[in-house]
Amino acid sequence: MPDIRAGILQESEKPSFDCLRCGHCCQGRGGIVASEKDVRRLCGRLRMTVEAFAAAYGERRGGKLLIRAGEDGACIFFKKNEGCAVHTVKPDICRAWPYFRGNLLDRDSLELCKEFCPGIPPSLPHADFVLQGTALLQREGLIGTGGADEAGALQTADLFSC
Ligand code: SF4
Ligand code: SF4
Repeated sequence: MPDIRAGILQESEKPSFDCLRCGHCCQGRGGIVASEKDVRRLCGRLRMTVEAFAAAYGERRGGKLLIRAGEDGACIFFKKNEGCAVHTVKPDICRAWPYFRGNLLDRDSLELCKEFCPGIPPSLPHADFVLQGTALLQREGLIGTGGADEAGALQTADLFSC
């Protein structure tokens, strides 16, 4: 296991993740979990009730609420040539990407992730990715604690404990 705690105090000065807005991570079905906290934030912005939001944009699976995909197979909030229509209030899983549990724990997982996401410099060492990621997760309040409504990829609280 990488030394997660080392990332709490400082971020690496090596080249860091920089989103190129290619939209790859907004494609596909079933990956975008919206927790209760996420839904409250989205509903506030969209001025909808939770029930109306879930009916219009969600689907329930395995006890979690997922953001639906549109007919094009991309997240329903993804607009071609524009990007995320709810960027400022998007779910935590989108805000935390690519600093997911699997990528923090496993360098091979990060290497696969680099092939998918051009925003991660191919030369970025796993240790630097961990430093940058743990700092961001802390700063942005994105450390999941294992809530039943939470995406597994966000559940990293145990990695920070002594
Ligand atoms: S795949 Fe990476 S570079 Fe592309 S939009 Fe997602 S985060 Fe940004
Ligand atoms: S909510 Fe926004 S960032 Fe997240 S998958 Fe949908 S379009 Fe992409």
